[in-house]
Amino acid sequence: MTGSSAAAARTPRAALAELLTGNRRFVSGQPVHGHDVTAAAAVASGDQQPYAVLLGCIDSRVPLEAIFDQTFGSICVIRTGAHVLDRAVCGSIEYVVGQLGVPLVMVLGHERCGAVASAVDTLRTGERPGGSLAYVVDQIAPAVTEVGADDPRAHPMAVRRHVLRTVATLRADDLLSGPVADGRVDVVGAVYDLATGEVTLLDR
Ligand SMILES: [Zn+2]
Repeated sequence: MTGSSAAAARTPRAALAELLTGNRRFVSGQPVHGHDVTAAAAVASGDQQPYAVLLGCIDSRVPLEAIFDQTFGSICVIRTGAHVLDRAVCGSIEYVVGQLGVPLVMVLGHERCGAVASAVDTLRTGERPGGSLAYVVDQIAPAVTEVGADDPRAHPMAVRRHVLRTVATLRADDLLSGPVADGRVDVVGAVYDLATGEVTLLDR
């Protein structure tokens, strides 16, 4: 997919199609975008025109530009443990949507997420981690509680529930709720399969 078609993805639907097409290229072993300096230089002049902002996990196995086969200038990426939100993350997404006119926000969880596992462990054992890691775990804990911490499938279910909770929070964000309500912006959730490389959208 060319940079020009990515730049043309100015609606939520077109932006989502562009992203998923990139994931199919990645899964099929036929990515078209290299990450060399010529690609960087090609978008160095002029303003950036990304078409999506992705919020994913810090997990080293989930590099967002790679799994969606995206090049320089096409997507904005934010990564925190289990895509946990804080004011800096929300403000960054508000900037991308409000100032850069990006029509799509995707929240991407993944299988075998260590941060979600920490939240499951915390609720099962009652042993809360120290430091700022406690904040991360606390943000994930409601999703674990909703699916049931003692359920044998608590982890995979909590991964999905936590994605959907993050999506709901962003859709209700002060500066995002208006554009979402009138259809200019969409916030979608998805899960990444570490083994196959496939991204699967979640129903709200
Ligand atoms: Zn993770």
